[in-house]
Amino acid sequence: MSIPRTAFAMVQTGNRTLVPKDLAIPDIDADSALLKLEACGICGSDYEQFEGLLRTPTPVVPGHEPLGTIARIGDRAAARWGVDVGDRVAVETMISCRHCAHCLGGSYHLCDTRKIYSYIPTTEAPGLWGGYAQYMYLHPNSVVHRVSAALSPQIAVMFNPLGAGFRWAVEMPDTQPGDTVVILGPGQRGLASVIACREVGAGTIIVTGLAADAKKLELARAFGADHTIDVDNEDAVRRVKELTNGRGADVVVDVSAYATQPVVDALSMVRTGGRVVLAGVKGFRPVEGLVSDLIVMKEIRIMGAIGVTSTGYRSAIRLLESGRVPVERMHTHDFSLSDAELAIRTLAREIPDDESIHSCLVPEF
Ligand SMILES: [Zn+2]
Ligand SMILES: [Zn+2]
Repeated sequence: MSIPRTAFAMVQTGNRTLVPKDLAIPDIDADSALLKLEACGICGSDYEQFEGLLRTPTPVVPGHEPLGTIARIGDRAAARWGVDVGDRVAVETMISCRHCAHCLGGSYHLCDTRKIYSYIPTTEAPGLWGGYAQYMYLHPNSVVHRVSAALSPQIAVMFNPLGAGFRWAVEMPDTQPGDTVVILGPGQRGLASVIACREVGAGTIIVTGLAADAKKLELARAFGADHTIDVDNEDAVRRVKELTNGRGADVVVDVSAYATQPVVDALSMVRTGGRVVLAGVKGFRPVEGLVSDLIVMKEIRIMGAIGVTSTGYRSAIRLLESGRVPVERMHTHDFSLSDAELAIRTLAREIPDDESIHSCLVPEF
């Protein structure tokens, strides 16, 4: 593989400012590698980073859902990661230290000194820390997963949202065959949750969304949701109660962004002794109307979910490679690297008459 000396990248230099730049491609040592990007997924949090809500440092190369092929790799990295030049890999977002109490306890995604791809400024060598670029540096503590080269980049890069579906809607709430699961929010992570729950044999899957989400709710049904609820026109709590003969759901997963009412509703929708996973961030706003006594009286187990770990990614990649689920139905847009801003704004509904569900940047070479 012949590798140029610089990589084209989109660099965020301030709030709502992305500029094209050529950044030097670094040398790698025995423990690191260089990724040639094939695609980088666009995440809801990319919008928050773009807006400046995450207060991540700048200048920075955003993009934390990278898929690519190994362009260069050090001997020790090749041995430890089990991959070589030319292999296609999905890269995990978090870079953990592997030595703190969280890492040693098995929760490496909560590492005390974790670094996150796309949140490391370009001023920290070697600069190429994000997926909005032709090439990306792979730190020695990266976790990579092989992905079949037979998949298109647009499908293979779904390892990320689908991994979240498996971790948040299946692994964390321990969703069992036959369970009734309510998924609050029909975005790419909500749809991924439907797919993951269907895969493990959930009984009844119910998805909520706004009136404006009609297309996404239709997709949710196509992926196996039994019922969808338009919360603008229906009483979601009452519907869930009706659909469960008054019992409530075994599991409720909130993947809605900003809205806090779903958190309140989750406590009423879940059955006594049920599990609630909160994975949608609300901009650090308090939740009005939350009745904590419901948590006590019903012994509800509430879990916060941030990020995805290896087991979720592996389940996602296996499912994608199986070709069993028509996941391409939720892939709506490809963008070139220089259209990164358009990609973010299309996801955020800032573009009239257009809205993406799953989308990605596909770099040109
Ligand atoms: Zn993401
Ligand atoms: Zn650690």
